[in-house]
Amino acid sequence: MKNILNLSKKELEEYCTANGFKKYGAEQIMRWIYQSRIFDFSVMSDISKDLRRKLDEDFYVKLPEIIDVKYEKDGDGYSKKYLIKFENGDIAESVSIAHKNRKTLCVSSQVGCRMGCVYCETAGMGFSRNLTSGEIISQLLTVENDNSDKITNMVFMGMGEPLDNIAEVEKALEILSNDKFIGIAQRKITVSTCGLINVLENFDINAYKYKLAISLNAADSETRSFLMPVNKKFPLEKIADMVNLKKPSLHNKITLEYVLIKDLNDRIEDAKRLIKLFSPSKVKINLIPLNKDENSVYLKNFERPDDFTIDKFKTKLSNAGFIVTVRFSKGGSINGGCGQLKAQMLKY
Ligand code: SF4
Repeated sequence: MKNILNLSKKELEEYCTANGFKKYGAEQIMRWIYQSRIFDFSVMSDISKDLRRKLDEDFYVKLPEIIDVKYEKDGDGYSKKYLIKFENGDIAESVSIAHKNRKTLCVSSQVGCRMGCVYCETAGMGFSRNLTSGEIISQLLTVENDNSDKITNMVFMGMGEPLDNIAEVEKALEILSNDKFIGIAQRKITVSTCGLINVLENFDINAYKYKLAISLNAADSETRSFLMPVNKKFPLEKIADMVNLKKPSLHNKITLEYVLIKDLNDRIEDAKRLIKLFSPSKVKINLIPLNKDENSVYLKNFERPDDFTIDKFKTKLSNAGFIVTVRFSKGGSINGGCGQLKAQMLKY
């Protein structure tokens, strides 16, 4: 027996036809599961009894278990960090961030991560495994179940490097963005990456409306290699070459994520290098002042720049024509901010 959440529409269609049922049965089943949130095959009334019986023999639907929730009020919004336990006992984290009408869910794509960024809590766990598409989607199903509120936006910025698990992430995106199923518009989903050029090169930016965010975090290769060892394999300059060759339309400019760290990457020379490397017509820049965590062994050696330095850095980039935003990461005090996600234990 398999968890049916791990099947794509195509795989379910193949299952239906291979067992002598109509291909369309797959869409009906998926509408029940993802739109109506009915997980009991026997009550899927527009599906033939034979198919329902067969589904009962071969599949089940199981959501992960919430084992901990931490809540933080933030102005007129809030963040909730969920510790989620999958069927095999592995733990991952998802964070929901509510602000006015927007409810964003930050999902994990792997248990742990092998990219080793020095400022990241998840890196300290090492890599355990890729999450399946069903485990990615079920983070949304589980959180919506808990909150009885619809998620409006998604970001793949939780534990793991999404492009290191591209096959399962793509499978999940297909169901998440299909308006017959979960129906979150592609332009409201952001996939973030530390810059795996080998995957990005094959990514046709105009074929989709997903937003792409590249964690840059430094304007020279030496600093970036220190912060993000992946830079030794896929250097900053190569990322710039690749981005500058893309032809993004206005709505899907790539966002460069840049965590500002005092005296390391926050100098005016760093801003000047960014201006030299990238074109304002290709990228937006999101500055994230370091989300300092005194309890973290990974972050305690770094400091957040002062407001004056942050503003000077931003102004330099804005004056060069870049769209620049400063994001003060939400969820900081519950360790749910970017680069701070880490399951407390791998197995419960
Ligand atoms: S920042 Fe992202 S890519 Fe880097 S180690 Fe952490 S989870 Fe992995």
